[in-house]
Amino acid sequence: MSYQQIRLPENGKLIGVKNGKLDVPDNPILGFVEGDGIGPDIMRASLRVWDAAVAQAYQGRRKVHWCELFMGEKAAGLYEGDFFPGETLDAIRQLTVAIKGPLTTPVGGGFRSLNVSLRQEMDLYACVRPVRYHDGVPSPLRRPEEIDVVIFRENTEDVYAGIEYESGSDANRKLADFLRNEMGARFFEDAGLGVKPISPAGSKRLIRKAIQYAIDHNRKSVTLVHKGNIMKYTEGAFRNWGYELAREEFGDILVLEDDLWNLHDGVMPQGKILIKDRIADIMFQLLQLRPAEFDVIATMNLNGDYLSDALAAEVGGVGIAPGANIADSVAVFEATHGTAPKYANQNKVNPSSLMFSGVMMLEYIGWNRAAELINRAFVEVMKQRTVTYDFARLMDGSTTLSTSDFADALIARIHA
Ligand code: NAD
Repeated sequence: MSYQQIRLPENGKLIGVKNGKLDVPDNPILGFVEGDGIGPDIMRASLRVWDAAVAQAYQGRRKVHWCELFMGEKAAGLYEGDFFPGETLDAIRQLTVAIKGPLTTPVGGGFRSLNVSLRQEMDLYACVRPVRYHDGVPSPLRRPEEIDVVIFRENTEDVYAGIEYESGSDANRKLADFLRNEMGARFFEDAGLGVKPISPAGSKRLIRKAIQYAIDHNRKSVTLVHKGNIMKYTEGAFRNWGYELAREEFGDILVLEDDLWNLHDGVMPQGKILIKDRIADIMFQLLQLRPAEFDVIATMNLNGDYLSDALAAEVGGVGIAPGANIADSVAVFEATHGTAPKYANQNKVNPSSLMFSGVMMLEYIGWNRAAELINRAFVEVMKQRTVTYDFARLMDGSTTLSTSDFADALIARIHA
């Protein structure tokens, strides 16, 4: 495939996919999108950390060949104003695995979020957000070490589908007439209208991925989070389809919460995984008061958006929480925060969210030793209380480092 602006590194090899599994060479090409605002600062720092960990872990036997891809403001400069070039999407499909910095989305009309467009164009249906505590990170909880949760958020449906009709528009009037006159619906005059599609196929592929993750990573439970008491045919249906899938495809490994008490006296049988569900609003309380009861969570788009930021705040905030958007094989890892424009090009912010997204990426391609080196180095750097400004203001007696110095501190521990 030939590209206009993208250059595939000559000595790297493409990742293959065989029988649904990644086939990763020792010199894979991985894509990266620098991102807008603070993106270049945190990407520059993180690339150095990932490369150092791979070099230390494999002593030259393995090496990532990075390929720069373009989206956002940098793309607009290269592709005559196009913020979302088609060839970047083609390259992500060809490379299978990529990582991106944050991208600007102007608020209000005319400009769809690039992040949402990317997820929908590439059908990256699972947003995966692991949230766990790293020793030494400032937290408002008394026992933050109890948090070790992976949220699987459905990425393509729900109110994010973009099916909305503006108050006063012709389309809005047409839909309002239909709803009132043919469906008997009642609502205020001139209400803006939005549609919340939740399908069995969309729900089941997300929940299947969450359950499979729980099995592959020896997790204890999967919780379906929904607001089905109010939205019965969307959120309630998500829960019902989840249990249907659990029975049909994973009946031998999953135990329903009712059965735990009816059949097993409340004691989980060895090697099995509990599947339960909780209403979304109480989840916000439970994740603060009893986080140890949760492990893998599967939920719809909007619930997942709120829940993952709230949970991240308990263990250091969005400056550190990593994330990924995953289809069946193609995966795009990303910082979970935005572009923080007021800090752009100041070499100041925390690169940890992007850096840990890269740790997830290394685990995704099976390079666990390199990932582990970064995890361990991070704990050591926290112990030294050498941190970026956002953590420094929460930690007494800490030293404030720039983005690049923080990366240097990590690299020094990786080599130690
Ligand atoms: P933001 O996450 O960019 O920033 C909010 C605040 O969080 C910042 O002012 C800063 O105090 C703090 N912060 C964020 N990242 C940090 C880091 N790495 N280290 C230390 N502190 C950090 O959110 P916003 O201001 O609401 O959004 C700015 C822009 O980013 C908007 O255009 C928005 O659409 C976009 N955005 C993009 C993504 C994405 O690309 N995935 C996600 C969220 C927002």
